[in-house]
Formats: sequence, structure tokens, C-alpha cells
Amino acid sequence: MDQFAQDPTLLNAKTVQEIGMHLQNKYGIDVDEFINSKFDGRIEGTTPKELSVESARQFALAVDYVKQKYPFVELERIRADYAKREGFEAKANASAKPKSVKDPDAPRGVRVVGHDSITIGYNLATDEDRVAAGAGYVTGQRNRARTSEHAFENVVYYSIIHEMGHALDNTGQRKSWERIEQELYWAFEESPEFAAFDPSKYPNPDTAEKKEREVFNRWLADKLVSNYSYQGGKRGNEINMVEAIADAFLDVEIRGMNSEELSRLIHRILIEEAKKAKGVA
Ligand SMILES: [Zn+2]
Repeated sequence: MDQFAQDPTLLNAKTVQEIGMHLQNKYGIDVDEFINSKFDGRIEGTTPKELSVESARQFALAVDYVKQKYPFVELERIRADYAKREGFEAKANASAKPKSVKDPDAPRGVRVVGHDSITIGYNLATDEDRVAAGAGYVTGQRNRARTSEHAFENVVYYSIIHEMGHALDNTGQRKSWERIEQELYWAFEESPEFAAFDPSKYPNPDTAEKKEREVFNRWLADKLVSNYSYQGGKRGNEINMVEAIADAFLDVEIRGMNSEELSRLIHRILIEEAKKAKGVA
């Protein structure tokens, strides 16, 4: 993560306004709802508050880092709000919103065609919030990319790098998903677990297929960076592709060559597909 110098304007800014306007001028990102945060107490059990300069700075440094490294990533707006599903997401640290169109042939009738916005949530708004979130962040979801003092002190930065992983996934119109599934399977086929699996024990092909998938899921269970990369947050369950991608992105950007091998596999395909969608060589 040291390969780009951190922008001195962002490091030295004294107000959220200054931070927002700098990102707007540098990248053409709409920052209206970032500068004018909307933690206005409209959700039951919340009190109105403002986005702190330090939380805003960590957010901006994460966006700046990813935009420098992957300039083709789509990000139209940044926001400070409770995020889209009120009540439930009032508790989210951050969220990412894709751009989608109705498509009767797509799963659930919508197709992702790009990325819209990233929102920092109520939980990370103030300095106090950020410090309080730190402890949970380094232990939650058993994520090997975020166990350090650095993660503890930079919860917003880490959260937004994860969200930028979603932005890249959506920039690539989620076309990496099938390839990731395929390449994970190829890796599994090289494993002793696969070699030891004997489908002839299951004369019914459906059963054999189901059993093989169970062996695959057991093989995968300790190989992704976080619990959150699995359905229901549980290792051994099916992969949770959308979060596995964002956490693999975080893992590689933070830990580089010390990241999980499968994080690097996922990251490579993620970037290739985002580039392809944007016509970047
Ligand atoms: Zn996520």
C-alpha cells in the first residue's frame, strides 16, 4: 500500500468541505451528500451528528488510493448517510450502490451495469464512533486482512477499500463471478481432497454432484480471507461471491504478497474484468 504517496492536501485538510472539494476537483466525483452529511436523527434511536474530519480523511485517502491505482473504477458519488435500507443499514459501517437496469433474463430481474456510489454509515461518523468500531473491526468476521494495529486505527480506510472492491466488481458488471467460480474449481481439482473423492460411491449422479460440492466447500473453508466470504458468515458454507470479492480485494491491497493465495486469484480476475468492461488494456 506504499506504492502511491498519500495526497498532502487530503493529509493536511482541516474540514470535511476541503476534503470533499479536493476529491471533486481531482476526480469529478459528486460530493454534495458527503460534505452535507445526513446523520440527522431521522432513524429511531439515533441522534443527529456530523461526519468527523478524520473519518472523512480516511474515506478520501482510500478512494484516492484506489482511483490512482485503478483509474478506470467507476464512482459517481460519495455520501455520508444511513444508507439505503433504513433501520437495518443504520448499523452498517459503509455500503456500495451499483448501477443496475431491469433485465427479465437476469437473476432477480436486474443486471448490474456499473457503479454508482459509496456511503459511509452512521457507525463510523464521529471520532468516538471510529474508535469504538475499531475493536470490533479487528476481531469481527475473522478476517486475516484486518487484525493489525493499523486496521484498528484506520477502520474507515479499510472499510472504504472493501467498498471500492465492490465498485470494481460493479465496474466489471460482475462478469468476474463465473470466472472466479471456474478458477476456484480448477484449483480444487489439483487438490488431494479432490483426488481422494470417489464419485463411484454414489450411483445417483445428483448425489455424487452434491457430495463433490460438499468436498469443494470443505476444501475452500480455510482458504478465503474472512468468514464474511461465506454464506451466513460461516466457513464451510457456499461462497458469498459479492463479499468474497470485496474482502479479497482488501486483502491484496493491504497485505500484498502476504495475502491469501485465493485472494490473489480473485483479485486478478476482478481487475481483468473491470478493465475489459472499460476497454482498458
Ligand atoms: Zn461488502
